Amino acid sequence: MGKRIVILGAGSGGLVCSHVLRKKLNSSHEIVVVDRQTHFIFQPSLLWLLVGMRRAAHIQRPLSFLQKKGINYINSEVRHVDFDQKEVHLISTKLKYDYLVISLGASLHPEKIPGLRDSGHNLYEINGADNARKNLELFKGGKIAVIVCATPYKCPPAPYEASMLLSSYFNKKKIRAEIELLTPEPAPVGTAGAHVSERIVSLIQERGVSFMPKHQISFVDSSTREVSFSNGKKSRYEIIVYIPPHGLPSVLNNPSLLTKNGWVKTNSRTMETDIENVYAVGDATEIILPVGKPLPKAGAVAKLEAIAVADNIASNILGKPPKSSYDGSSVCFVETGEGRAGLIKGNFYAEPAPKVKLKEPSMFLHWGKILFERSWFYKYL
Ligand SMILES: Cc1cc2nc3c(=O)[nH]c(=O)nc-3n(C[C@H](O)[C@H](O)[C@H](O)COP(=O)(O)OP(=O)(O)OC[C@H]3O[C@@H](n4cnc5c(N)ncnc54)[C@H](O)[C@@H]3O)c2cc1C
Repeated sequence: MGKRIVILGAGSGGLVCSHVLRKKLNSSHEIVVVDRQTHFIFQPSLLWLLVGMRRAAHIQRPLSFLQKKGINYINSEVRHVDFDQKEVHLISTKLKYDYLVISLGASLHPEKIPGLRDSGHNLYEINGADNARKNLELFKGGKIAVIVCATPYKCPPAPYEASMLLSSYFNKKKIRAEIELLTPEPAPVGTAGAHVSERIVSLIQERGVSFMPKHQISFVDSSTREVSFSNGKKSRYEIIVYIPPHGLPSVLNNPSLLTKNGWVKTNSRTMETDIENVYAVGDATEIILPVGKPLPKAGAVAKLEAIAVADNIASNILGKPPKSSYDGSSVCFVETGEGRAGLIKGNFYAEPAPKVKLKEPSMFLHWGKILFERSWFYKYL
């Protein structure tokens, strides 16, 4: 008898999982993807949107395309999951599942920092990045802040990339901008190791960006755009670009599913949760590494996890032993401006510590990121 696999979220993890399943299972098995968005947004390109290298329309595609590939896409908010009844509650219907894959990403909470939403631009949302771009076009000089509000956040290199792209953008326009990067972290991309952190600090400093670690934003006076930090620093900025606090999508708030830090708990290799036939991938999950730090939240991780999950669900349905597992590897381009990019690549499950390297920036790697963007749209939408 045909099975129904329901995938919650049509982001990086959900799209990959649905495609791999569709390839492996015949049409007697139904693959359903639910997402409240009508469009998939390629999030790495938000950085290019910020500095005018893309327009908003270029970095998104309608999810309705999935229908043509034999994947049943439902545009709805997921309201509740009843794990006992194996049922997902949507706005106007309920959906039974045989297998469930949770790929709802992380929710964003700028409202947690008083005054922030009215004073700054959320780099992690398409409207925020696009409004920042419009303001940057009018900017005549002064101070710009790139602020990380809290950890963990997805794509740990992204704020550093944003600051370097901004520096390159103003160099080209010959406008004097003082760019500050303020973060509660002691160092960038800490899980990758000190050698990667140190090189990223030197890369941003070489581009004239002031790095201010251990700066926890407290609130913003929206009438003056003065930002207050918990260490007493106060500073006024012409433009504020921020990475908001992240959290678990509220629909997943079920103690039987969660780690003590409030993310979805999974087996680090098979991505199985503690609930039978329920898997989770991507930013909603938390995997603590042997070094005691969490596995970074990244699209590359979500993708590899989703492939392992899809392989194993298909094997299970086809009566074969499940053999796939996520091995801890990840790869991420690091845009450094002036048409160049570096590449962070390695294995986060290596023991005793992650084995991760940063390849030096080159034009070749920047082109690699462009190809990466194109291949996403070509393969998945
Ligand atoms: C600026 C930026 C740059 C980045 N650069 C890179 C990079 O270079 N390399 C890299 O590997 N990663 C990068 N990332 C991170 C990457 O995009 C994410 O880690 C990845 O998308 C996570 O995949 P996911 O499937 O877990 O979640 P997402 O891709 O965020 O998808 C979650 C989906 O769930 C949906 N959803 C959530 N709640 C509900 C609900 N209740 N009902 C219905 N639908 C819901 C959302 O609409 C969304 O479509 C970047 C991210 C940003 C913001």
